[in-house]
Amino acid sequence: MKKKDIKDFTLDELKKKFEDLGEKKFRATQLFHWVYKKGVEDFNDMFNLPVVFRKFLYNNFYLSNIELLKFVKSKDETEKYLLRLEDGSVIETVLIFSSRERITECISSQVGCKYNCLFCESGKKGFTRNLTVSEILNQVLFVKKKMQSNPHNIVFMGIGEPLDNYDNVIKAICILNSKDAFNIGARKITISTCGIIPAIRKLQECNRQVELSVSLHAPENKLRSYLMPVNNKYPLYDLIEVCKNYVKKTNRQITFEYILIKGINDSLNYADKLARLIGGFNFKVNLITFNPTSGSLLQSPDISQIKSFREKLLVKKIPTTIRISKGRDISAACGQLKSLYLK
Ligand code: SAH
Repeated sequence: MKKKDIKDFTLDELKKKFEDLGEKKFRATQLFHWVYKKGVEDFNDMFNLPVVFRKFLYNNFYLSNIELLKFVKSKDETEKYLLRLEDGSVIETVLIFSSRERITECISSQVGCKYNCLFCESGKKGFTRNLTVSEILNQVLFVKKKMQSNPHNIVFMGIGEPLDNYDNVIKAICILNSKDAFNIGARKITISTCGIIPAIRKLQECNRQVELSVSLHAPENKLRSYLMPVNNKYPLYDLIEVCKNYVKKTNRQITFEYILIKGINDSLNYADKLARLIGGFNFKVNLITFNPTSGSLLQSPDISQIKSFREKLLVKKIPTTIRISKGRDISAACGQLKSLYLK
């Protein structure tokens, strides 16, 4: 029998598995504490587990690892880690430090990405595979080991489309939430999606208190399809309807991410259109300055244009924040470091 990666299982799944195999189920909680709270990487070091149980674990399971390939630190303190998975695949994780000493970790959910947005590096080399639950969690364990504490916030804004890897992402969130593991509240976790409609509906039903961000980037179909080919499959107006339904049913706000790209989607006319499209609902907008990639012809607008765009939305009573892309000097946007590394 092939050994199973123990970090692929939620606490309930492990309890059930242990019981089925004739072991006591409270061992699952003890094991969770060793793996996620103490960061122990060898069953043999789990002292309060009986030797026979450790042997049982060793025979049936293993603890996967993640390896650092490259580390870069930006002038603005943002840190980016290029990490190698056990099969040699490469992903990225980014640490963003906010003014109040809070750490946000931006994690990847897939190797590569299917969606090939015009402005994003992650899709340029296509899609390889989904990350497993343990590969998602190993990114957080890696940071925990380095910082000697959990990150305060987790955002699924690294490489990949999290709602395309729905089951593994939800399981990982369940373990991130667990008080016997990371104990990170659901409201501190953000899923960012390019707009996979069926999965947004599914998320609405699963009743987790996670934050949802939807990458919009354009207020009309033609432009959105140009920037984000996924819009041909899940068109803008259907997406907005699904989002309206989501906020109504869950009573939770959705954040629309809108990257401002000079001369493409940053005119005040588009700000007006955006306001008309989403006004009157529990939505907010996060304007992101485009983080230029090497070789790309796209550019970031001037800060004055970004401010005017925001003003337009504010006048229409749409809560709007501006996010200056962090780590511009270290290629911190989605997939950029990996692209440079693999050149
Ligand atoms: N697939 C998901 C999550 C990954 S992208 C999604 O589409 O939301 C996370 C965020 O980074 C998205 O809002 C994406 O549009 C943004 N992003 C990607 N490339 C960028 C760039 N070059 N500059 C600024 N933001 C970028």
